[in-house]
Parts: sequence; structure tokens; C-alpha cells
Amino acid sequence: MRVILPDSSELELPEGATGLDAAAAIGPKLAEEAVLVRSNGRVQDLRLPLEDGQQIQILTTRDNDDPDALAVLRHSAAHLLAEAVRRLYPGVKIAIGPPIENGFYYDFEFPEPIGEDALDRIEEEIRRELTEGRSWERRQISRDEARQRFEDEGEDYKVELVDTAEGDISLYTQGDFTDLCRGPHLQNSAPIKAIKLTGLAGAYWRGDEQKTQLTRIYGTAFFNEADLKDYLERLEDAKRRDHRRLGVQLDLFHLSEHAPGMPIWHPKGMVIWNGLEDLRRRENAKRGYVEVKTPLLYDVETWITSGHWEKFRDNMFLVPYGEERTLGMKPMNCPGHMLLFGSALRSYRELPLRYAEASTLHRNELAGTLHGLLRVQHVTQDDAHIFVTPEQIEEEIFASLDYAKFLYDLFGMDARFELSTRPDNKLGTDEEWDFTEEALRAALERRELPYELNPGEGAFYGPKIDLHMSDVLGRSWQMGTIQLDSQMPKRFGLTYMGADNVEHTPYVIHRALLGSLERFIGILIEHYGGAFPVWLAPVQVRIVPVGEGHREAAHALAEKLGGFRVEVDERDETVGKRIRDAEVEKIPYTVVYGDRESDQALAVRERGGGQSTRSLDDLVAELSANL
Ligand SMILES: [Zn+2]
Ligand SMILES: [Zn+2]
Repeated sequence: MRVILPDSSELELPEGATGLDAAAAIGPKLAEEAVLVRSNGRVQDLRLPLEDGQQIQILTTRDNDDPDALAVLRHSAAHLLAEAVRRLYPGVKIAIGPPIENGFYYDFEFPEPIGEDALDRIEEEIRRELTEGRSWERRQISRDEARQRFEDEGEDYKVELVDTAEGDISLYTQGDFTDLCRGPHLQNSAPIKAIKLTGLAGAYWRGDEQKTQLTRIYGTAFFNEADLKDYLERLEDAKRRDHRRLGVQLDLFHLSEHAPGMPIWHPKGMVIWNGLEDLRRRENAKRGYVEVKTPLLYDVETWITSGHWEKFRDNMFLVPYGEERTLGMKPMNCPGHMLLFGSALRSYRELPLRYAEASTLHRNELAGTLHGLLRVQHVTQDDAHIFVTPEQIEEEIFASLDYAKFLYDLFGMDARFELSTRPDNKLGTDEEWDFTEEALRAALERRELPYELNPGEGAFYGPKIDLHMSDVLGRSWQMGTIQLDSQMPKRFGLTYMGADNVEHTPYVIHRALLGSLERFIGILIEHYGGAFPVWLAPVQVRIVPVGEGHREAAHALAEKLGGFRVEVDERDETVGKRIRDAEVEKIPYTVVYGDRESDQALAVRERGGGQSTRSLDDLVAELSANL
């Protein structure tokens, strides 16, 4: 039989040859370094037979930043972890141990709870295994045999996994440890050059709160030490930037069990919030949007009409109303804007009509998924609905992309765009979709934005462009979305009078560019590590009077800087302590005011930088330039 290699050349192999056989046929070094076969995006264990005509790519230990190669390495490391834990803690039961982004975990039921301090000991045991060396052996067995085997071992979770597994059952063995596993795995442990256990957490069996709580041990592994070191440094940086930690440290917001997933904003956090609101209002006005305000609650009939009742009902908070009616709190603004459009006779001359509203939305999320500002139940989007004729679609999508690019550039974030096209359950005809998808594609190309294509991932009512951005740590975040919709206007019976004197149904573009303000601020906090640019900084200047006698002059100076956000720190602390606090609070400018200072000569310290003397006029000019 023949397989096809990445350079399109063909490789002749005996019938039933495996990925490893293919590697060996190319060269002994490749066979030694091989970790995985990839075939049209699917991964396959080296030990499994290839098929005639199969396209294959053999990944090796040198593919040290390939996600699939890393996943195999880390999944194999998870098995080493389970082996170590079983040896150190007799009576422990093992559950599952998959690779995840940046690492792996394994879930255990320990006879006695363990603490963080146990991780060192377990890690040492894994190192011992690595020094001894392990190789993996794969075996396919019957369901009954597998069931019996794990029953005999008292591994209840594995028994349950055998019972619910689909397809063939395979086991992987290394040393004296055997796990139920689909694979793929490394040939042996030699490629695992760096490993680290990174943490401990509780996790319910199968993610179900009604089931046993297990102990999850997290770890990561790499093909070399340098990659691990890089990763740990990035992790430390991410911890320092964690918006939940900085949110408290900088006095921006807090979350309370009194209102789950609904942030309570402090005065300093509101400065940032309002900064974004001002930006939104100003730029919307420039771009021809009109501001509207629509209700928070609508009766169920409205939600049935909009389609949310069918698709989004589980995420809606409901409120009883009178004897027989129920109102639903809006998870999105669309219905209000549809009702507004439909409240008058519309002409083509009014289009495009751009309704903007940053209203409060509520979404009922599963408790376990809430996370700081990044996943909340109280959501405020920089939302808008643009009603257009078919001819206006491309231009309006283009303008929205342009607007999005402007916003992301403002924050120094790299934007990435994804175009999602017709799904299987689409409404409307193929001709309609050809037209709308082409309009979105044309807008992306005209704006010269590179984009990824997600075939079949569009909404059932229309294609969409999702906006992602990468922060300073290279992490990718889904932000806004631009969705074209031909269905909701129809459902609400909306029309406009065309130039041809015939009524037409408008298209609507749903778009939010920053996404939710809550989430966006969470990301901004991490992106800037709390050191906001001057225009967003809650306090722009802090004045530190050296002694009691300088307080009056400090306040006089604050008054002269009245157009900015200025504070005077007159606590009875040393000057050094007060300067340090200003640094911890990441205030852009700190002015120390003592005997030698005057409007002509101020001692100005810049955040993270040195101190210099400049005049009040110069300071004002510099502040103004940064607004
Ligand atoms: Zn496995
Ligand atoms: Zn909408």
C-alpha cells in the first residue's frame, strides 16, 4: 500500500504498516523522534495501522510548539502522574487525565485529603519514573475484559468509563500502571524533558455537583527546559496581572455573593467605565449612530417572536407579572430595537438606521462558569442594530470593521477576525446565503483584514464575523461580533418602503465591538497590568506634600490641575512610603511638593520611571497631550 507524505511524495509500505513503520521506512532518526501521526488534522497513535492512500504527517520531538505534539506529550505525562500517585497513595481511585491548553490534569479520589505540599513529593516520584524510563504499550481488548479488570482493581470510575465508552476499548500500560485510554501516546518517556505540577483543585466527577468531589492535580510538560521556564514566567506575569487581584488592589470593583456574577463598581472603577462610555458615545456620534433606550423586561410573547425563547430561554431571568403573565429580563437588546423600528412607517431614505444602546443585560449562567469580570451575569454591551437595504450590507459591515479596528488599535491590541458561514440548520435559501456571505467577505477583503474561515459556524439566521484580540501576553480573547440577520426583521414583520414604492424587509446587523464592558475592562486590567494609560487612569496625578507645612500649597496645586483627576496624599506616612503606594496603585504622575518646589519647578515622578523637574505648564501640556 502507499501513503502520501506532506511533500506529496508517496511511500510504499507493506499492508497493515503502522505510523511507526512509516517513520522507520523514512529513517531511523525519524522513527526514534516520532511522537504522533497527523492525518488531515486528525491525530493518530504511531502504533495504529495506516490505510492505503492516507495522507500522513509524522510529528517529532522537534515539533516542540505544535499543539498536537504537546498534547500527546502532556497526556503521556498525565499517565506518569497517575502511576506516581497510585504508588504513593495506596487506596486512591483514579478518574480521568486529559491534556488541556498549556498542560494536563488528572482527577483522583484520595483516601485522605492531600494539600499543596504533597505536589513536591509526587513530582519527585514522576522524576524517578523519568530517570528509570517508561515506554507505553497499547492493547485493544473487549469491553467485558476491561470491565472485569477495573472492577478487580476497585477502580469504580474506570468501570463507569468502560460502560459509557463508544467504539473500541484500548489500554495503555507503562511500568506496572495500566490505564483505560484512547490514546495517542508517546512511544516512551524520553521526550518528556521538563515537567511541573502546577496546582490542586476540587472537581466534581463528570462536572456534576451531585457527584463525588475529586481532587484535580494540574501539571504541565514540555519537550525542553527552556520552554517550561518561558511558560512559568508567563504564568507568573499572568498572576500578577490577574484582574480579580488588581481589581481589589486598585479599588476598582468587587464581587459579592449577594449578587452572584454581578460586579459592584467602586468610584475608581467607574472612572474607567465612564471613560469607555464616553469613547463609545463620541465615536458612535461621529459614525452616524443614534442613541436609544429600550426596556429591560418584555413579555414572553415578544421573546417567542424574536426567537430567544426557543434558543436562549435557559439563560433568561424570568419575573412573574400579574396573575398570568411572565416577563423575561433581556439577555440581548434586539427585540426592543425591532419594536422601535416597527413603530413607524419607514422609507428607504432613512436607511441605514443605526440604533445604539449600552443597556444592562442579564444572563443566567451556570454558577460554576462565573469568573471575575470575564464571565458575569450582568452584562453591558456596546451594542447596536443597523437596519439596512441589501445594497448597504457590504458598506455597513466595512464601516463596522473599520470601527472595530480603530478601537483595538487604540488599546494596542492585535485584532483577529473569523468569518463564520452557513450552518446545517440555516434558515433561508442557498442563494440568500451566497449573497450575504459574499458581502461579509468583500468587506473584510476591502478593509484588508486577514481572516480565518469557520465553515458551518454561522448563526442560523445569517453569517457573522467574530472579533478576537490578543493581549500583551499573547492570549487570545473573543471580543465583539458582527452578525448579519435576515430573520428577526421578518419575525417582527418589519418593512420599509423602497424606491420602487414596494415594501421590503430590511436586513439587520447586530454588532458589539468591545463586547461586554465588564469583560472588556477585565481584559484591559490584565492587558495593562493595572497601569492604565493616562486618559483611563482613575487617578492621573497624586501630589505628595513633604511636610504638614506643604499641605496648603499642595492643595493649591491640585486646584490648578483641576481639569485632571488629582489627589493629595496628606497621610501621616513618610514621603518614601507615600511614593511607593502611588507606584503600587500605578498612578501615572506623582508630584512631591516640598520647600524647593514651585509652579516653575515641580518634582515629577513618572510611573515606573525616574524623577525630573518640570514646570506646571509643562506638566499640564503633557497631561493634555495624553487625553
Ligand atoms: Zn491516556
Ligand atoms: Zn441583537
